[in-house]
Amino acid sequence: MGKVIGIDLGTTNSLVAWMNKDGPQIVPDEQGIGLLPSIVGFAEGKPVVGLAARNGATSAAQTFFSVKRFMGKALSDFDAAELARLPYAIDGDSRSVRFPVGSTNYTPVQISAMILATLKKRAERFLGEFILKDAVITVPAYFNDAQRQATRDAGEMAGLDVLRIVNEPTAAALAYGLDKRNQGIIAVYDLGGGTFDISILRLENGVFEVLATAGDNHLGGDNIDDRLTALLLTEIQETHGFDLSTDREFLVKIRRIAEQAKKDLSYAEATRLLLELPDGKRLDQILTRTEFEKILEPLVQRTLGPSQQALKDAGLSPAQIDEVVLVGGSTRIPLVRKAVAELFGRKPHDELNPDEVVALGAAIQADILAGGTTEMLLLDVTPLSLGLETMGGVMERLIDRNATIPCRAKETFTTAVDNQTGIDIHVLQGERELVSDNRSLARFKLAGIPPMPAGMAKVEIIFLIDADGILNVSASELRSGVATSVTVKPSYLSDDDIADILDASFENAETDIQQRQLIEARVEAERRFPKAEELLTEMSEVGAPETLEAAQKALEALRIAYTQENHLGIRDAIDALELAAEPLVAQRMNEAVGSALRNRSTDDILAKVEQARLQG
Ligand code: AMP
Repeated sequence: MGKVIGIDLGTTNSLVAWMNKDGPQIVPDEQGIGLLPSIVGFAEGKPVVGLAARNGATSAAQTFFSVKRFMGKALSDFDAAELARLPYAIDGDSRSVRFPVGSTNYTPVQISAMILATLKKRAERFLGEFILKDAVITVPAYFNDAQRQATRDAGEMAGLDVLRIVNEPTAAALAYGLDKRNQGIIAVYDLGGGTFDISILRLENGVFEVLATAGDNHLGGDNIDDRLTALLLTEIQETHGFDLSTDREFLVKIRRIAEQAKKDLSYAEATRLLLELPDGKRLDQILTRTEFEKILEPLVQRTLGPSQQALKDAGLSPAQIDEVVLVGGSTRIPLVRKAVAELFGRKPHDELNPDEVVALGAAIQADILAGGTTEMLLLDVTPLSLGLETMGGVMERLIDRNATIPCRAKETFTTAVDNQTGIDIHVLQGERELVSDNRSLARFKLAGIPPMPAGMAKVEIIFLIDADGILNVSASELRSGVATSVTVKPSYLSDDDIADILDASFENAETDIQQRQLIEARVEAERRFPKAEELLTEMSEVGAPETLEAAQKALEALRIAYTQENHLGIRDAIDALELAAEPLVAQRMNEAVGSALRNRSTDDILAKVEQARLQG
């Protein structure tokens, strides 16, 4: 597979990231900017995406922001007051939401597709790829199926193959490499521009599970900007006597100043607010961090309620949280960080850019799917050999340990006795020669084989391990077509278990092989006993007495060798018996052939007689 990109399709901003040899990287636009405002405006019916739309290149009624809130929803899901506050045109019913632009109605999926297509193009240009299709897209953990499907549809509409939809908090945890812990509880505190989300995740054996989510769909940096804007408007009214609250152009300007002041105060103790007023005078004022925090405090408090609720829903106390991750631009605010640290009683992870963590994690997930980050795949090789029990309790290996998966192996067996209608299949895992020293994974029976002489049936057994490490064993008798199969998960062993198994196999390698050889020699001898006895009985009248005696003696010798713990002795006795019995076998063969010929000639004569009668 080629490159796979990771996309954070955010409410306020979106990003695309990819993985290079140094790790996950944000893909910048031509100006070197990573964040793409999730805003689509229309100028004369043509879409304008991102910064230009945000900066007022398109009229307010046709500039659509926070469209993510409407994904997979209907207009009736929202309250009228909330919709009335939106500066842009919105339409819809109990089944859909639409954004009218002239005579065209755009859906939230179409608007989102325009944002995704912009990111796709950006990545293609930056990575020098003519066409880049494969992507991972993140969504909030609380998104339901319809919202996830809408996101997938938007991706496809933008010309992307959406390989996976990943939860934003999971991506954030991946970005911090938290998947490398074996297990743990992780709280992801995400305070962005317009939304607040808290997610509690449980990590176990590389798998993230969402235990609880909570949040506030209308709480974020925008609310802070609103409050600062309102404060400035009051200030202007009090000191200069202007009411500018209905002057849209001025409001945009003042909001921008407020947001910048907020950002500055994340790093500085004070900032200067400077603004030209309509009468030519200036607003020039210092805002300190302490003053700012007074405005901020109630908003920060509002995030603590949902956080406590999520903990309660997960059945956990703050002390049980192992890691805390910060996501979203507003978590740069020192007061926010302090509140989070106090709530969970530990310092949150803040080493990465909180605007970028989700996209970086998406790039890591993308790279795993592209097959790049192999050390994160728990199962790229089989940790232990897989095989079957064969005669005498020995394991026959079909797939060797460390074989890369997915893989497949095939072996053909036959029946041991005449008219055997079933075959027992015992699936084993391990490195030892004897069945009893290995792990039993599954037992099943291939039944319904039609009666036939021993050795006639052709039983094909196929081992197939898929990319997820799941083993499927199927057995079929090829002459009759009877078939059956089982699926086993062979790999739930810890690294320690595997190390123990391997140690034992190295330690016992020599004795194991000797045991195996002994068992195999004995199985061979067991096969000879009934055959030799049958031969001696059959030939007792017609065979030469010395030959009969020699064969009898060789058989006795083999019976004695069979009881000894020496596979070479058994093999020698088998050879000796074969030699001694050879004249008898030859004699029996000749007689059988002779009688067949005799029978054949009678048949031939009969056939000729019949033919003559018919012709005559
Ligand atoms: P996001 O939705 O994660 O992109 O977050 C965007 C929000 O983060 C906006 O409200 C920004 O104003 C806010 N933000 C970005 N940088 C800072 C900063 N340095 N201090 C405070 N807020 C910030």
